[in-house]
Amino acid sequence: MTAMIEVKDVSKAFGGIIANDKISLEVPEGRVTGLIGPNGSGKTTLFNSIVGYHPIDEGSIKFEGVEISDFRVPKIARLGLLRTFQQTRIYSKMNCVNNMLISVNHRSERFIDLFRDYPPELTEKAEQLLDFVGLYSKRKLISGDLSFGQQKLLEFAMALMNEPRLLLLDEPTAGINPTLINGLIDRLRRAAAEMGVTLFVIEHNMPVIMNLADSIYCLANGRLLAHGSPDEIQSDERVINAYLGGHYTVDD
Ligand code: ADP
Ligand code: MG
Repeated sequence: MTAMIEVKDVSKAFGGIIANDKISLEVPEGRVTGLIGPNGSGKTTLFNSIVGYHPIDEGSIKFEGVEISDFRVPKIARLGLLRTFQQTRIYSKMNCVNNMLISVNHRSERFIDLFRDYPPELTEKAEQLLDFVGLYSKRKLISGDLSFGQQKLLEFAMALMNEPRLLLLDEPTAGINPTLINGLIDRLRRAAAEMGVTLFVIEHNMPVIMNLADSIYCLANGRLLAHGSPDEIQSDERVINAYLGGHYTVDD
């Protein structure tokens, strides 16, 4: 199996806090890989390192064999590696279609591009993807008027506008009601299967990630605690103890 992302001995500290301590993991192409761990265990920090949001202190991050740890966000995005945020980042005063169109231009980061005309194919693509996530009937609504769950679906569709090869999702189901969660999981699976998007997903909702992921990594206190299939992770005592706040040991 080809590793799309290869993280090797990556460390990142903020002042005295070691947020990631020599983390090594692999994200295989075409699969859904999960990342779990208690609050503050370093999950978001690792995502930020992978997408080039901040430089790492040591280690190596490869995307399809290319060292990317010295690249910043725009360059990494151009390679087809995108992320979504724990908090949604949409333009709440714009309608859904315009949010979709504008998301394509994030790569150029030129203010003037906000005002250029979009080719009709792009609008068509935006509407198709809004249909894919179940928001077609809301496409002309101001996105700030959508429910939080619908905003997350919109954000997911915005990421798909850029045809990512690998999408990092930071707690996609957080704050979403159970009915929408099932729809979102279904869309994530279909994006992986039908659009060929490899997914790396941080998730707090255990049933969701056990259901969605092919394999799961668990962090605790900034270190890699365990890796395995959903079944293995669910019955791993170190993982259970980490979540219960008990004592655990990290194998070096
Ligand atoms: P998680 O996503 O697993 O909840 P984070 O990666 O957000 O964990 O945080 C890991 C640790 O790093 C926490 O102790 C957090 O306070 C710290 N941290 C994260 N980002 C920053 C930052 N920008 N500045 C200082 N400390 C940070
Ligand atoms: Mg986080």
